[in-house]
Amino acid sequence: MQLYNSLTHKKAPFVTHTPGRVEMYTCGPTVYHFAHIGNLRSYIMEDVLEKFLRYEGYDVNRVMNITDVGHLASDADTGEDKMLKGARREHKTVMEIAQFYTDAFFEDCCRLNIKTPDVVQPATGCIDEYIKIVSGLLDKGYAYQAGGNVYFDSSKLQKYYVFNDHNEEDLAVGVREGVEEDSNKRNKNDFVLWFTKSKFEDQALKWDSPWGVGYPGWHIECSGISLKYNGEYLDLHCGGVDNAFPHHTNEIAQSESYIGHPWCQQWFHVHHLNTNSGKMSKSKGEFLTVSLLEEKGYDPLSYRFFCLQSHYRKALVFSWENLDNAQGAYQKLIARIAALQEDGSPADEAVRQKYRETFLAQVGNDLNTSMGITLLYDVLKAKTSDTTKLAVLGDFDGVLSLSLLEKAAAQRAKVAAAKAAAQTSGGYTVTGEGDAAIDARVLARGEAKKAKNFAEADRIRDELKAQGIEITDVPGGAVWKRV
Ligand SMILES: [Zn+2]
Repeated sequence: MQLYNSLTHKKAPFVTHTPGRVEMYTCGPTVYHFAHIGNLRSYIMEDVLEKFLRYEGYDVNRVMNITDVGHLASDADTGEDKMLKGARREHKTVMEIAQFYTDAFFEDCCRLNIKTPDVVQPATGCIDEYIKIVSGLLDKGYAYQAGGNVYFDSSKLQKYYVFNDHNEEDLAVGVREGVEEDSNKRNKNDFVLWFTKSKFEDQALKWDSPWGVGYPGWHIECSGISLKYNGEYLDLHCGGVDNAFPHHTNEIAQSESYIGHPWCQQWFHVHHLNTNSGKMSKSKGEFLTVSLLEEKGYDPLSYRFFCLQSHYRKALVFSWENLDNAQGAYQKLIARIAALQEDGSPADEAVRQKYRETFLAQVGNDLNTSMGITLLYDVLKAKTSDTTKLAVLGDFDGVLSLSLLEKAAAQRAKVAAAKAAAQTSGGYTVTGEGDAAIDARVLARGEAKKAKNFAEADRIRDELKAQGIEITDVPGGAVWKRV
């Protein structure tokens, strides 16, 4: 596939260190709170990327960390520990908070059809790895001890700002107001590899190390976990665009200094989800979660559909109106697929292969997921059997993961059950999609018609039409459906 690379700022063919195999790493959540749907946009797009690579035939090893220690409020190693903040807020221990929000994260992923990575590693489970890397960096002269902590020495690098659209001013932006400067740092871009001198007296999680009892910095966990499970040659590193600096910049600095050769050649960054008032963020108070979408009556997969309609490298604007439109389009798509009938004949494999090639070429152009959605409609309009259409839609859905066939089958079953349970009154039969309240209104309309009260019959028809219900008169009754 062709993929844009944030490191080179170019779109280029995706290549791997070992042919046919992808070592893929994803920065996971910091489990101190629920994920908001902006965070989840990144995980949805990374999930599609992984599934696309598998569809192309790659063997993918995907690794993800769970940050349960060391991530401070500012990505530049200052401010409060996010986990401690979460524990204090909820009067629980740090480990209880970590377990609760890790489970919540994977429940959200499940509802959004996001596959669990092959390896999921909590940061607290790899302390020996970090100690090994920090020791190696000290031995090689890339790190120093100051004020009890161990720092990475950014002045030893030829180039620190590897994603060159980031510059020094960004660091100042990353530092929040009221946060004190760390006077132990020799250079502005140095960062903490290991904390022993914690300003948090109630720091819950501490481990022994050659430099004293303490805990790892945030950045070291991704290098440690990736080197352990992906090996020294990482093919694809993913994350939200706000991770590029300083987090990914620091990951590259420490990993390459430690292993002594280039580490990861391909960086995939998903852009922000914005609301009309700006970037969605947990620090702004109320934020949107998958549970909130469900409480408001949205199918989480409508949100996935909404994300797939736009390109991962463009900021996406969320509004309830936009989500309504996506949900409407998604439901109509399911209804059209539900109308397809398998006729018992085999699928046309030549047609299926032709669509497979089109999908690979079009979606493979820098993960153009909106093209993938467009192709679904092309298949529905194609001049081929319903069986073939269902087979092709199933192939595409292996990557898009919108549960198209499952939802269509459920809808067919619902309609069949409704037909079986058709409502009859006075010889007038109403068949619909399984909603007793609507059946009752349609029966009332039939009775009005029989009594020649056409004004009332029309009034009921209009009232139902406003709810998106279409009534068709048939001999001996009526059939209704949602349109
Ligand atoms: Zn990371």
